[in-house]
Amino acid sequence: MISDQLMEVYRLLYERFGPQHWWPGETAFEIIVGAILTQNTNWGNVEKAIANLKAAGCLTAQKLHEMDASSLAPLIRPAGYFNIKAKRLKNFLNWLCGEYGGDLEAVARIDTYTLREELLGISGIGPETADSILLYAFERAVFVVDTYTCRVAGRHGLVEPGADYHQVQDHFVSSLASDVALFNEYHALLVCVGKEYCKPRPNCSGCPLESLPHELEF
Ligand code: SF4
Repeated sequence: MISDQLMEVYRLLYERFGPQHWWPGETAFEIIVGAILTQNTNWGNVEKAIANLKAAGCLTAQKLHEMDASSLAPLIRPAGYFNIKAKRLKNFLNWLCGEYGGDLEAVARIDTYTLREELLGISGIGPETADSILLYAFERAVFVVDTYTCRVAGRHGLVEPGADYHQVQDHFVSSLASDVALFNEYHALLVCVGKEYCKPRPNCSGCPLESLPHELEF
């Protein structure tokens, strides 16, 4: 059964890498800022940008909302694409403060489908970022798909070749128990195996999924 395959992948990854304690962030707001800043960069760079925001005393919705994008950009420079990301953060803050008075508790009362649609309506927030926010900041049972998920699932024949974001997501969601803790850990573990082994050129020797059936070509 497909769910057995997916749980076997999970078991093997968890046995090797252990709990990942995602998402790193002290508050839901910090998690959201991190999810927006982590697009196209590694987490170490995001941590530096968040440290700058904390040191400047502006890691709150109200403070960041009051700040111009041109003042925000230098603080998040370590995260790369800082002018674009400053605008994306401002887009999010305009929505949060304009529609909900900057109150994340009010946002937390929105049902998952509506909240996902609203997040996707914010310029610069795509499916992976929206779903990361839903899962890690609002603890909704939404499976986050990224390049690593598609790569690992494709190479082991768990999804059809060329499956898109929503097809891969549907596959995981329909095959697994709807469990926030499982989805949290599973995504983090796929990132681990992707970074360490399942690179553009796979390094299967020693990978925890080495024993699983592979597609013949990838
Ligand atoms: S590196 Fe090889 S064994 Fe590991 S997940 Fe990728 S394809 Fe599978």
